[in-house]
Amino acid sequence: MIRTILKDISSEELGLTLAHEHFIVDLDRIRKDGYSFIQNVDEVVPEIRKAMDQGIQSAFEVTTNDMGRDVWKLKEIAEKTGLNIVCSTGFYLAEYHPEWLNEASAEQIAEVYVKDLTEGIDGTDIKAGLIAEIASSSKGFVGNERKILTAAGIASRRTGFAVSTHTGRIVAQETIDILLKEGVDPDKIILGHQDLIDDSEYHLSLLRQGINIAFDTCGKTAYMPDETRARNALKIVEAGYGDHLLLSNDISRHTYFTSFDGKGYLAVMDSVVPLMRQYGLSEEKIHRFLAENPARIVNNPQIETGEDTCFWKN
Ligand SMILES: [Zn+2]
Repeated sequence: MIRTILKDISSEELGLTLAHEHFIVDLDRIRKDGYSFIQNVDEVVPEIRKAMDQGIQSAFEVTTNDMGRDVWKLKEIAEKTGLNIVCSTGFYLAEYHPEWLNEASAEQIAEVYVKDLTEGIDGTDIKAGLIAEIASSSKGFVGNERKILTAAGIASRRTGFAVSTHTGRIVAQETIDILLKEGVDPDKIILGHQDLIDDSEYHLSLLRQGINIAFDTCGKTAYMPDETRARNALKIVEAGYGDHLLLSNDISRHTYFTSFDGKGYLAVMDSVVPLMRQYGLSEEKIHRFLAENPARIVNNPQIETGEDTCFWKN
């Protein structure tokens, strides 16, 4: 089963999925650019409907506890649009961390994640279905970033839920090492933002370890052309790792919305997928990136047996 905000669903019900999105987010308290917040349900719902018109049925909403996550609003969005939303528990980059993390052990932080996954978030009975997006700075681990990652490993091992990260090249291997050391199933690891690194050998070196990677900044052509994303996806498929790639747009500023003449949540389906077809990727492979792979990774058999909750309650 897969845990979404409104109900647990089967893997078959997930359908075409954006694997790393933000629908309600506030990074403005640190970025202070005046744009890095999306807090208005009525603004985001039409943007999501446009993605659904392209066939999108589900999304992993990876906004963490310290990024302005709001599960009441996410529930409203799910009800209004019919999109399956998997929401998250986790902590983001060091500059966003609450102060109490300084004193907390990885074990204590893991307890917060586990509570969000098995009891409910912020006093609601809405449970997270993913540990995400666990961040580390582009220059290496800063502050408590190693600790929040270790905690993610502990929580994943206990509950069976997947971990999705925000990871640069410098810390990619150490990120995998920390999670594996905590006993995480490699197939429950999604290393995010890997499309920002144009190096197929590097991608394959990660994939050989049994983990998954996300090309989740589709449409952000100022960072990387979508042609490069599509070409590197083709190389991954040719090397035999097509079952370990996920796609998304990662919208965190409302100025990316179509209402601001941006691509909104549409770049995966409007730009990257057509390029993949052009480069010879089959419909079947593309469907894997969008449906089978995300469904397999967030599927958690412990939901069905109730095992995911019993250890917490006991
Ligand atoms: Zn993100």
